[in-house]
Amino acid sequence: LSPVHVVGAGLAGSEAAWQIARAGVPVVLHEMRPVRGTEAHKTGDFAELVCSNSFRSDDAQTNAVGLLHEEMRRLGSLIMACGDAHQVPAGGALAVDRDGFAGAVTARLADEPLVEIRREEIAGLPPAAWDSVILATGPLTSPALAEAITALTGESSLAFFDAIAPIVHRDSIDMEIAWFQSRYDKPGPGGSGADYINCPMTREQYDAFLDALLAGEKTAFKEWEGTPYFDGCLPIEVMAERGRETLRFGPMKPVGLTNPRDPTVKPHAIVQLRQDNALGTLYNMVGFQTKLRHAEQARILRMIPGLEGAEFARLGGLHRNTYLNSPLLLDATLRLKAQPRLRFAGQITGCEGYVESAAVGLMAGRFAAAERLGALPAPPPATTGMGALLGHITGGHIVTLDAGPRSFQPMNVNFGLFPPLDVVPKAEDGRRLRGAEKTAAKKRALTRRALTDLAAWMDGTGRAATE
Ligand code: FAD
Repeated sequence: LSPVHVVGAGLAGSEAAWQIARAGVPVVLHEMRPVRGTEAHKTGDFAELVCSNSFRSDDAQTNAVGLLHEEMRRLGSLIMACGDAHQVPAGGALAVDRDGFAGAVTARLADEPLVEIRREEIAGLPPAAWDSVILATGPLTSPALAEAITALTGESSLAFFDAIAPIVHRDSIDMEIAWFQSRYDKPGPGGSGADYINCPMTREQYDAFLDALLAGEKTAFKEWEGTPYFDGCLPIEVMAERGRETLRFGPMKPVGLTNPRDPTVKPHAIVQLRQDNALGTLYNMVGFQTKLRHAEQARILRMIPGLEGAEFARLGGLHRNTYLNSPLLLDATLRLKAQPRLRFAGQITGCEGYVESAAVGLMAGRFAAAERLGALPAPPPATTGMGALLGHITGGHIVTLDAGPRSFQPMNVNFGLFPPLDVVPKAEDGRRLRGAEKTAAKKRALTRRALTDLAAWMDGTGRAATE
C-alpha cells in the first residue's frame, strides 16, 4: 500500500495519522516544527495546546463536547487516550498537563511502525505524486501553503482573531483572600470539587475594575477592524463594552460559590482560575482572554482581590485564525471538490477547539484509510456528535443548519447542530416536563441516541473495512 500523507501534526493531524496507521495503512506525517515555528506554538511536540489546557466538559450525558469525548474514546482516539492519561483536576472538565499530554502523543506516534515522521514544511501544494493527502495545518497554516490553497480554491481564506487568557503563578495568588471551590462543588474526573481558585469582588471593586478595563489601552483597533469575533471567545474588554453587567453574567458570574471567610456575604462578582499544569504551579484565568496591551493587562488584573501580587507566566493576546469556506469547497468526506486527492481536517475546516479539531482529524483519517483499502468511506450519522460536527462543516447533513456557504463561521460542537428528537421525552410517570428538567431530559435523549447510532455505524464500517 502506498502511504497517505498527513500535513501538520497538531490535534487533527496527529489523530488522523494514528487512525490511518491503526487501520493498517502506512502514513507519512509532515510537521514543520521545530524547523519552522508558528506565532503561538512554543515547542516541537505534536498536538501542542497553544492556550487553555482544557478539553472542556467531560459529561457525556448532557454536554455535547463531553459526548464527543466519549465517541472518540470508543473509536480508539489517540488524543483522548493521552488526554485521559495526563488529566489534572478541573471540576467537571477534562483538563490536561499540557507537556505530559503532548509528549505522550509525540512518543506514541514515533513508536508506531506504520508512521514515518518528516520534520519539514510543505511550502506549497503537495506534490502531484501524493494521491492521498490530509491537510491539517490549523489556524496558523504557514503562509506559503495558505497562498497555494487560496490560489487553488479561488476562495480567499478568512482570517479573524482569537483571544487567549493569562496564566498566573499559583504561589503569587493571595490565598488569604481567594479560596478553592468548584462551581456547585462539582467534582470532575480526578477532581475534589474544589479545583478552582476563586477571587471575590464587591460591587465597588467590580465597578472600578470595569472602568479600568474600558479605559485600558488595547491593541490598536484599526488593525483588527471588521474582525468577526467568535461569540464564545470574546475578549473581556469587548464583553465589558457590551454592558456593565455582561461580565457578571459571563466569566465573572458569582453563582454556585460561597466565600468560606464570610458565607453570609454574597460576592458581587467572582474571577475563577483553573489549574494549568500537573504540578499545580500555574493557574489560568478562566474566560479572561484579552487584547489589552501587556503592561495594561498586568496592572488591571492586579486590581482583582487576591491577585494584587500576581506574577504572570503568560499574558493574554490575539491570534490569527485561518479557515476554509468548507460548505462550498469540501465534499461529505472532507475532500476538496476541486482536487479530491486533498482532504482537510482540523480547525482549518471551520470547526473550533482542540476536541473538535481532533474529532475531524479522526474522521478524515478513517475516511482516507477506508479509501486506500478500497472501501467507500461512510460518514458517521448526523445524530452523533461527530456527524453533527461534520454536518456543520460540509453543510450536507442537516437541513435546518444555518451554515450555508455565505454565513459559514467556525463553531464548537453543540446540541443545536443535532437533528431534533422524534419524540419529546416525558417524565417516568408520563408527566410533561418543563423548563430545566425538560432541557436536561432532551440532552440525555440526544446523547443516548448518539451513542446507539454510533455503535451501529461502527459495526457497519467494521464490516466494510474487512470485506
Ligand atoms: P494545530 O493544532 O495548530 O496543528 C497544525 C499543525 O500544522 C501545527 O503543528 C503546525 O506547526 C503545522 N503546520 C502548519 N503549516 C504547516 C506546513 N505548511 N507544513 C507542515 N506543517 C505545518 N482551542 C481550544 O480548544 N481552546 C483554546 O483555549 C484555544 N486557544 C487558542 C489560542 C490560539 C492563539 C489559537 C491560534 C488557537 C486556539 N484554539 C483553542 C484553537 C486550537 O488551537 C485549535 O482548535 C487546534 O489546535 C486546532 O487543531 P489543528 O490540528 O487543526 O491545528
